[in-house]
Amino acid sequence: MIECVFTVDYEIYGNGRGSLWDLVYEPAERLRAVFRKWDVPLVVFVEAAEMEIIGSRGADPAIGLVERQIREFHMAGSEIGLHLHSQWYNARYENARWQLDPEEYNLCVLPSDRIDRIVEQAIAYLRRVLAESDFTPSSFRAGNWLLQPTGAVSRSLAAHGLKIDSSVFKGGRQHRHRLDYRRSRRNGYHWTFSQDVNIPDSRGVLLEIPTFSRMVPIWRMFTSKRIGLQKKAPADPARTEGGISRLRDYARLSYPMKFDFCRLSATEMTGMLERERRLDRDDPGVYRPIVAIGHTKDLLDVETVDAFLSYLQRNSIPVTTLRKSWEKIMGPLGRSGGPSLPARPGMPSRPE
Ligand SMILES: [Zn+2]
Repeated sequence: MIECVFTVDYEIYGNGRGSLWDLVYEPAERLRAVFRKWDVPLVVFVEAAEMEIIGSRGADPAIGLVERQIREFHMAGSEIGLHLHSQWYNARYENARWQLDPEEYNLCVLPSDRIDRIVEQAIAYLRRVLAESDFTPSSFRAGNWLLQPTGAVSRSLAAHGLKIDSSVFKGGRQHRHRLDYRRSRRNGYHWTFSQDVNIPDSRGVLLEIPTFSRMVPIWRMFTSKRIGLQKKAPADPARTEGGISRLRDYARLSYPMKFDFCRLSATEMTGMLERERRLDRDDPGVYRPIVAIGHTKDLLDVETVDAFLSYLQRNSIPVTTLRKSWEKIMGPLGRSGGPSLPARPGMPSRPE
């Protein structure tokens, strides 16, 4: 059984440039309209650190609209997930420019008590925005997909009530930040983990439902749509400095192409899903949550998303949230947070 989950990282550029209106509010409104048209939910990964810090410094007049929009997504049944770029918390705002803290770029390498304080602060911000004192996000996506080293951060997220991570894209590799998700290619459509997100652990504290990707020859990555988006974005120093390590990331015969609804064409997206449908016809008992990713700052055209949602409806493929997907795998989540992990170890799991 296939279900699609659409996740959107809700944030400005990684170096702090750009306006909330242009890069967050306006594209999210266009997305909201098309998801409302098809009556399907989105998972909105709100980058809590930057929203809180931008608001506290009064650095962008659209912050009030953005926070209202987050509440509206929540009330309309979309899932609010937690996305975190921890380098924002110590950011300085000088001459109308943000200086982010490179020492806190990767949440996972910080001391455990610092990780705890950051996770607490981020959840507290979402509670204030949603005006729900007991709100806890179920799902997490790390800034720049960095969930390694995994142990301390996964323990902290689980201790704060989170259930799901969707930072992994199978086959991923970034030399500069020592991100290496190649080993996870052996895994199924979802798995529980604790110490290393690559390694399934039946006693794991979190469930990984990875962002769907497929290994493709490197030349397939250089489509006109992708190159246009690359030119549009300003350089993020933490990602582009040390060009050698970036080049090493690309020095591979095949490369993981993410299932990205902002960067892929409708043909590329349906092609990826058709392959899954063939696998599903051969073995329909396997539950296959297919997680698509997008970024508000990357949304060029909603027509691609509209065409793809139409394709899903024509082919009777449901659209769900990460939280509901967790319930399908692990059992119902109550208001209190549901059963403790893992209810049913092993992967790939079968639906009820
Ligand atoms: Zn991000």
